[in-house]
Amino acid sequence: MTLDIEHFAPRFCKAVRDWYDTDEFIPLHAPKFSGNEENYVREVVQSTFVSSVGQKIIDFEQAMCRYLGVKHAVAMVNGTAALHMALLGAGVTRDSLVITQSLSFVATANAISYVGASPVFLDISPETLSLSPQKVREWLATHSVEKQGLRVHRESGARIAAIVPMHTFGFVGEVTELLEVAREFGIPLVEDAAESLGTEVAGVHPGNFGLCAAISFNGNKILTTGGGGMVVTNDDDLAAKVRHLSTTAKVPHRWEYIHDQVGYNYRMPNINAGLGLAQLEQLPKFLESKRALARYYADFFANTGVDFVLGPSSNTPNYWLCCVLLPSSEHRDDFLKICNDAGIMVRPAWAPLNTLKPYTTALADKLASASDVAKRLVNIPSSVR
Ligand SMILES: *Cc1c(COP(=O)(O)O)cnc(C)c1O
Repeated sequence: MTLDIEHFAPRFCKAVRDWYDTDEFIPLHAPKFSGNEENYVREVVQSTFVSSVGQKIIDFEQAMCRYLGVKHAVAMVNGTAALHMALLGAGVTRDSLVITQSLSFVATANAISYVGASPVFLDISPETLSLSPQKVREWLATHSVEKQGLRVHRESGARIAAIVPMHTFGFVGEVTELLEVAREFGIPLVEDAAESLGTEVAGVHPGNFGLCAAISFNGNKILTTGGGGMVVTNDDDLAAKVRHLSTTAKVPHRWEYIHDQVGYNYRMPNINAGLGLAQLEQLPKFLESKRALARYYADFFANTGVDFVLGPSSNTPNYWLCCVLLPSSEHRDDFLKICNDAGIMVRPAWAPLNTLKPYTTALADKLASASDVAKRLVNIPSSVR
């Protein structure tokens, strides 16, 4: 099928305008504050406990535990900090290697760097857009050996300390298979679940697959606290460690300032948690709206030569950012230009992380699927209506 973008893109723009019923600029993802946001934030201001101690933080963490079905949640200042803490909690140390996917937001690799570890970029599965278990298994089988009970890189001797799949645009990839690989090679799985809050796989939420997961509540995510993030886990020791480290490693005492290691000031302020609690109350409604939009898009793109990505069949996705695959990078570039010119915000995928200046020397496998997807993918407006 030949795709006439000059004709097709304006039709798409009209379909988006029809859905959102507006002639104004349509962003990729705008937050929606239609519940108790102002009430809860006002309560926090009136309490004077606006900073990193307060009832709303406790309430927000507990509500997230109930929602996700996890034992522990530790709220952080942002998703990158949550990922940093998750990696430290999982025992990632300086000079070790962490396997992740090249198709991700830069924060995934940056958090690995903050620990003093280095990323190893492996490929995604084209069906899930997330880390390929087959590629991880092949890479480990070729490039790693066991040494004194540890899994180390054959060439450098560096310990391989974690596997970090990222649930791309809300799609949870083949986690069962990934967990098998992780167990087989004795490496913990840490989920970068920044984008996947609300997605379920057979009724199970992210945070329950790996040892722990990091979530983001940035302004463009499905649920926002302004800035914010969270480490969620079922592991008691990991939760305690992460809570301690992110609270300046302060030893609890009624008045003494004793800190037993170099800690971080990473806890979420109470005022942000107020926003989060109100947003979480509306998450089911947000999900309903986004899933309806995904169905609308799927119908629109059917038999057009542009693939709307429905996600893996095992998922009930949150459709955080809806995406399409154009037939070629030329089609993609034309589509990006026409839609953005028409006031419909669309964006390409991230540049593969191994192509970014800080990561060009990092270890990387052949990344055929990631580079193909990166050339053809476009994210399309996905806000809750
Ligand atoms: C948003 C995001 C993060 C980090 O979130 P911040 O809250 O912006 O620090 C990490 N990883 C991925 C994949 C993300 O999309």
